Amino acid sequence: MERYDVIIVGGGLAGITCGIELAQDRYNVLILEKELHMGGRASSWDSNGMAVDSGFHRVIGYYKHYPKLLQQAGINLNDIVVWEEKLDVLSPKHDHVTTFGVAPFHGPVKILRAMLGNNKSIAPKAKLSLIPFFKNGLHEFKVDPNKLDQISILDFAREQGVHEDAIHLFIEAMCRGIFFTPSERFSAYVFFGILAPAPQRFYKMRIGSYLGGMSDVMIGPLVDYFENLGGEVALNQGVERLITEGEKVIGVELGLKKFYAEQVVLSTDIGAAQYIISQSQLDQINFYSLLKLPTMPAVSVQIELTEPVLEHDRTTFAPGTVLGSFSEQSRSTFRQSKGRLSVMMASLEKLEDHTDEELLELIFKEADQIGISMRNKVIDYRVVRHGDKFYSVAPGHEILRPSQNTVVPGLTLAGDYTKQPYLSTMEGAVLSGELASENVKNALRESQ
Ligand SMILES: Cc1cc2nc3c(=O)[nH]c(=O)nc-3n(C[C@H](O)[C@H](O)[C@H](O)COP(=O)(O)OP(=O)(O)OC[C@H]3O[C@@H](n4cnc5c(N)ncnc54)[C@H](O)[C@@H]3O)c2cc1C
Repeated sequence: MERYDVIIVGGGLAGITCGIELAQDRYNVLILEKELHMGGRASSWDSNGMAVDSGFHRVIGYYKHYPKLLQQAGINLNDIVVWEEKLDVLSPKHDHVTTFGVAPFHGPVKILRAMLGNNKSIAPKAKLSLIPFFKNGLHEFKVDPNKLDQISILDFAREQGVHEDAIHLFIEAMCRGIFFTPSERFSAYVFFGILAPAPQRFYKMRIGSYLGGMSDVMIGPLVDYFENLGGEVALNQGVERLITEGEKVIGVELGLKKFYAEQVVLSTDIGAAQYIISQSQLDQINFYSLLKLPTMPAVSVQIELTEPVLEHDRTTFAPGTVLGSFSEQSRSTFRQSKGRLSVMMASLEKLEDHTDEELLELIFKEADQIGISMRNKVIDYRVVRHGDKFYSVAPGHEILRPSQNTVVPGLTLAGDYTKQPYLSTMEGAVLSGELASENVKNALRESQ
């Protein structure tokens, strides 16, 4: 029976980061991944002849831990992304595009132009109403984050006197565009949590789109690096429960197979972590908050087209429609395609039971309302559903996010839902993996 120093359950960015950190210190590490490919929610693959990904991803310029991880594996972030300095908002309420600058250092003129311009969609008075909103929100975020997590961003904005046009075009657009959730159910803490790191690293702010499928440009090279350090990866290995001995976790079980280790890192998405914990012989009360943390659905629809339907490959938000955010990708991520629109659906509470065909039809209908006509250009499409992989960003959930450290000897948690300031993002996943690896190293040192 082979015994590892560490078994990591889940080969997403958190698990890979944790694996690299431990393998660099010469620990004997095995990553068990349920799927046939690594990368979890940040991966790409071939789906019956069509190249797809888990949904279009953006690297935010203020990320620190994620670029550092890539650098360790010899990947230069600037080689794998193209940077955007603007984002567009299309609303059925307006017959024109509203453009916001997002790069104060790299594109200051674009920011200035957006602040002084866009007057047709958002009057100067409405723009000015955002100033106290930002000032007070970012202040509250620093001094009393728990209080901010008790209120929705819509209620907070109304309390601060934000004009309804600014709520629609800016706040609603961001909530539905980033975490596919309407502003009335979006925690004010999460909203300011997205913005908070930007002022400190304003000189880095931009939005990066991948130049290729995420598995090709990022996950593949990271896994190669991990394996070159001596780490092992086993695919198609869905862990069912943790093996315990007294109070301690000593391994994992998959059907008849068992793997043993000094330390186990549970680095799955939230839904799978809840399932595995509930199936294991552990005192469930120790995982009360993890088991209570609600999840929310996420759905990406990827449409292969005969030609591009947008002038630029640029992140676009569409408040007032089911298209939370979307981007043309045929000039960036999927350059083999003649046209490729990737859509993150919003308003999912109403759409969960829709079939793939119904979702596509809805996209056609609502895209028409914002001036995008694609029905006659479709070659193929795929719907990628993420079930219960995200924790819900509704108010009151921040306090339920568990730390990487658990009270159970031999068990550490990792994953974007665990406690770290970057929410459900690649940066958050990487940081959670780093924190988990520190925890494991301390435990291994203590046991020696
Ligand atoms: C459509 C979409 C768009 C996104 N856009 C952005 C973006 O623009 N910017 C950004 O920074 N982030 C974005 N994210 C979020 C980002 O992808 C995630 O935060 C990050 O990838 C999570 O990594 P993770 O390792 O925590 O979890 P995951 O990637 O979910 O990894 C968990 C792994 O565990 C595996 N697993 C599950 N159960 C088991 C089991 N029983 N046994 C073994 N393995 C198991 C899973 O298969 C998976 O590989 C987006 C996510 C999605 C889905």
